[in-house]
Amino acid sequence: MAAESEARLLDGKSVAAALRESLAARVAQLGYAPGLAVVLVGDDPASAIYVRNKERAAAKAGFESHVFRLSADTPEADLLDLIARLNDDPAIDGILVQLPLPKQIRADRVIRAIDPAKDVDGFHPENVAALALGAPRLVPCTPRGVMKLLEAAGVAPRGARALVVGRSGIVGRPMAQLLLNADATVTIAHSRTRDLAAECRRAEILVAAAGRPRMIAGNWVAPGAVVIDVGINRLADGSLAGDVDFASASKVAGWITPVPGGVGPMTIACLLENTLTAAEARRTA
Ligand code: NAD
Repeated sequence: MAAESEARLLDGKSVAAALRESLAARVAQLGYAPGLAVVLVGDDPASAIYVRNKERAAAKAGFESHVFRLSADTPEADLLDLIARLNDDPAIDGILVQLPLPKQIRADRVIRAIDPAKDVDGFHPENVAALALGAPRLVPCTPRGVMKLLEAAGVAPRGARALVVGRSGIVGRPMAQLLLNADATVTIAHSRTRDLAAECRRAEILVAAAGRPRMIAGNWVAPGAVVIDVGINRLADGSLAGDVDFASASKVAGWITPVPGGVGPMTIACLLENTLTAAEARRTA
């Protein structure tokens, strides 16, 4: 019997490093350090880590980051005031409000308040619509990062059967839209999907974004499939796990991303790219 072949590892760290390097030349062309404002409300520990990582990556890539840390009881009106100031501030090219927000703040109100031209998370309805209409402007960072990983692996979505597990506005929906725009045949699975295993087994490109640790078992993966694991789940022992059972899936898949070190670094690199794109667009506007 032939030995089981191991999937090739899609290394997000090195793909992200190459992307960051390519940004340096564009920053030089722009002639100034793009300004990124990151707003963190409250003290959610995971959010604090994400914001710190974004701040570090921005500084390392020669961007100017401005982090605003607001207390958990900040009234919605105060946050909206801050956003209005950042919208008007010529030194700020990109604005990101870290989600989730505390209960007293309506996230949709806040997202709508951001100038769409500075909306580097791509969550503003204008940017969501542009993506849905097939003419994307600023695109959500995580799905964009996934597309770049596929490209790095030489995987062409055109005509491929792609399954996206998860339908959130942050990951699942824009992910499906990007794959559709790239001519894949896209299925979206979610918490009400019947027989998820069968859906997974049909997929040539499988993107897992459900937030359920190791839910996707190796025997749900089609031989040779490209498996992109967006999930970041903290286990009881403090370690991180993806939505895919890496140990078993990596014996079947053609390509697979690790967690951590897969999609995560791509998200941050794409945030920088969006900030630069926003800066370039404002310059020529
Ligand atoms: P979410 O909770 O908003 O959405 C989860 C989605 O998964 C929902 O649409 C739900 O219908 C679906 N789902 C839940 N249980 C399911 C099940 N048993 N079967 C099928 N579908 C199911 O989460 P999100 O914000 O989209 O994030 C998803 C995961 O991706 C989380 O683990 C999150 O931490 C991670 N994430 C990673 C990055 C990154 O940079 N790598 C960025 C954003 C989110």
